[in-house]
Amino acid sequence: MIQSIVKDLDFLSKISEPADERDAQVGQDLLDTLEANKQGCVGMAANMIGVLKRIIVFDNAGKPMLMYNPEIIRKADPYETEEGCLSIPGTRKTTRYRQIRVAFLNEQFKPRQKTFTAYTAQIIQHEIDHCNGILI
Ligand SMILES: [Zn+2]
Repeated sequence: MIQSIVKDLDFLSKISEPADERDAQVGQDLLDTLEANKQGCVGMAANMIGVLKRIIVFDNAGKPMLMYNPEIIRKADPYETEEGCLSIPGTRKTTRYRQIRVAFLNEQFKPRQKTFTAYTAQIIQHEIDHCNGILI
C-alpha cells in the first residue's frame, strides 16, 4: 500500500530497530511507495513511511530492490558529494564510498551479501543512514 512520506525531522532522527518476518508488509509498502514516487526518488527507508525498522528499498539499475537489516561490511574509495532527500528540502554535502559490500536479508528473509558500486552504492549508503537516524 502506498504510504505518505514522513517529514518530521525528530522522528527521522530516531534509530530504527532490526526488522523480522513480521515486517514483510512494511517491505511491500516501501516498494509500493517508492514506485509511486519514482519521478523524484531513487530510494527509501522505512522511517520515511513512519516505521522505525531497518528496511530499505532502492533503484538497483532500473529494478527495485528490497533489503531487511542492511549493513555495510566493507567500503572503499571515499569521495565528497551532495545529496537530496524526499523528506527534507534542499541538498547537503556528505562523504560516500564508490564501492560497498552489504550484508542483508532478502525479500524472503534469507541472508545475502552483495557488492554495489557507483550510484547504486550511493543510494544504499543514504538509505542505511536513514536506518541510523542520520539525515543527509
Ligand atoms: Zn533520504
